[in-house]
Amino acid sequence: MKNLKTVFLPRMYEYIGAFLTFDCNLKCPYCINRFGDFAWKNPPLNYRPAEQWLTALTRIMGIHKTGTDILPVTLCGGEPTCHPQFYDIVRGLYEYGYKTDLLTNLSFNVQEFVDNVPADVFIREIYYPTIRVSFHATVMPNTKAFRKKFIDKVCFLRDSGYPIGIYTINTEEGIEANKSMAQLASVNNIAFYVKPYLGYDDNGVLRGRYTYPEALNEIKRKAKCRTRELLISPSLDIYRCHHDLYKDINPLGSLLDKDVSIDYMFRNCDNLGKCNPCDVKSKTSRHGTVGYTSVDIIDVVKEQETEYGFEKDFKSDSAGKNKKSGRKKRATRSTNAVQPDQTPDNQ
Ligand code: SF4
Ligand code: SF4
Repeated sequence: MKNLKTVFLPRMYEYIGAFLTFDCNLKCPYCINRFGDFAWKNPPLNYRPAEQWLTALTRIMGIHKTGTDILPVTLCGGEPTCHPQFYDIVRGLYEYGYKTDLLTNLSFNVQEFVDNVPADVFIREIYYPTIRVSFHATVMPNTKAFRKKFIDKVCFLRDSGYPIGIYTINTEEGIEANKSMAQLASVNNIAFYVKPYLGYDDNGVLRGRYTYPEALNEIKRKAKCRTRELLISPSLDIYRCHHDLYKDINPLGSLLDKDVSIDYMFRNCDNLGKCNPCDVKSKTSRHGTVGYTSVDIIDVVKEQETEYGFEKDFKSDSAGKNKKSGRKKRATRSTNAVQPDQTPDNQ
């Protein structure tokens, strides 16, 4: 295992997501991990040990460690701190010289965190907080006492030297709690970001901004797709997009395979139309460039048989109501988890 050969990361890659586990102590109704059955069915105790994670990640050449163009390893999930060896993984990455980002719901013991994780692993010159805490107004206790405790934990980490900010999704149900949290954040000088709701809302309207809105219209088509993201599942397989990751289909290999490679290339896909909003939305890159999208999609097959007959031009059913297919809105309240996003996309 220790002698696995180096894997080269294409220089066009912009993001490395290490999904340490799909397990989470919360069960948000809109969680993105519900998007694919696999993520929820995956046994919570099916953790890869820290040693394997470190073997897998440290064989990747191209995770820039220094300079102005550091490409961090983003630790995410689920709730990444649910991994029983979370601290071993972070410390191992630190010792190897990697910088990391962390997407978390802050349900861990902050004193234990400070005692175990060097702040330096999160510190680099970047315009957004590298520890991105998600505040889930609809599932966290809706009390002043809870919000006070939450902000106290954030302040404790900030005052201990960790770059940290709070992110939320502004759902109708959570609007008052979000306002209260925003006020607390402001008073305490903590960055607070509201992320856009993604996917179809209760009225069947597609919310969010997309480079490829037609990729969400639920009309399956063939196309070619190329990604700039390395998505690593809890079992250390790699995937080209969140759709495939959460459904556990079409893995490109395992980072524990001796011959695995990471290629910047177009691949055939049969699932355009069923894409995950995370992959096709217009967002802000880690360099602050607005309008960045994780994937490129080309060579779309214009006509394809569906269960409703032949659908012609998918552009006619791009943004907005999904009338053409006659389908109900998809269950994409599940696309609003704060965790999987690499940047504070709060435009
Ligand atoms: S949205 Fe985040 S905090 Fe909520 S269940 Fe999913 S992973 Fe857990
Ligand atoms: S077209 Fe959509 S489902 Fe297919 S690989 Fe690209 S992002 Fe994934």
